[in-house]
Amino acid sequence: MVLMLKIAYSSIYKYALPEGHRFPMVKYELLPEQLLYEGTVQEDNFFAPDRLAEDLILLTHTSRYWDKLRNQELSRKEERAIGFPMRPDLVERGRYIAQGTIQCALFAKEYGVSLNIAGGTHHAFAHRGEGFCVFNDIAIAANYLLQEGLAQQIMVIDLDVHQGNGTASIFANEDRVFTFSMHGQRNFPHRKEESDLDVGLPDKTEGPAYLKKLKAVLPRLFEEVRPDIAFYLSGVDVLATDRLGRLALSMEDCRERDRYVFETCLEFNVPVAVSMGGGYSDRVAYVVEAHANTFRTAAELYF
Ligand SMILES: [Zn+2]
Repeated sequence: MVLMLKIAYSSIYKYALPEGHRFPMVKYELLPEQLLYEGTVQEDNFFAPDRLAEDLILLTHTSRYWDKLRNQELSRKEERAIGFPMRPDLVERGRYIAQGTIQCALFAKEYGVSLNIAGGTHHAFAHRGEGFCVFNDIAIAANYLLQEGLAQQIMVIDLDVHQGNGTASIFANEDRVFTFSMHGQRNFPHRKEESDLDVGLPDKTEGPAYLKKLKAVLPRLFEEVRPDIAFYLSGVDVLATDRLGRLALSMEDCRERDRYVFETCLEFNVPVAVSMGGGYSDRVAYVVEAHANTFRTAAELYF
């Protein structure tokens, strides 16, 4: 029964970064360890995703961008925008993570929910990457479902503290994918794209105001959009402790947010595939704890 909880994870998720790099890459190792240690999941709950096929990259990304990635020909400026040192294994890693989100979507259709230990790379556009994002995993998975006829209407619930600008741009002219982004208005990216619904929050927004807003919007969206599957980007950079976040949610507020999203998906009987997204608190244990709450809450509500 509990084995129906499917979690995408591979050791390739943890990319080797230079000493002192600000991205807490170690979280991708600590999070599965923590979930196993505490007994929320067992080894068998994890699956190693396959490698994303080239034709599925090209469903979402331009051939020019893909050529630059696979030939390691990004300019210094393009590499800097991504924020990770460019090596072939960064591109490989992105392929496995995006395929993980595809497989999570398929498992979600079967079991109601499925989660990727990484992903949520919503700053990747069709033709370029930025903000630690190379490929847009949710866009790739959504386009895959549409192409295969496995979904007719998709909703992206992006609650990372940063706007889902890449996702908004990719689906700007695609009515079958509704993009909802709730984020810090004054946060990166400073030039926002237009999602189907953007809710920009002021600096220092606290949990009660945040949750009130979310609860006012989400059920109405499910009623209007009537998605047959949702993607949830559960970034934990909304925490007050986050160095980049500018909002002021407590650990418990963040958990309540996840709970509310899952409960709403359950209420409307919509399967949900979850990608983790950002988290940049000084203590990596805090980031891991907040991400672990997403898994604990899913396990508790679904299985
Ligand atoms: Zn973020």
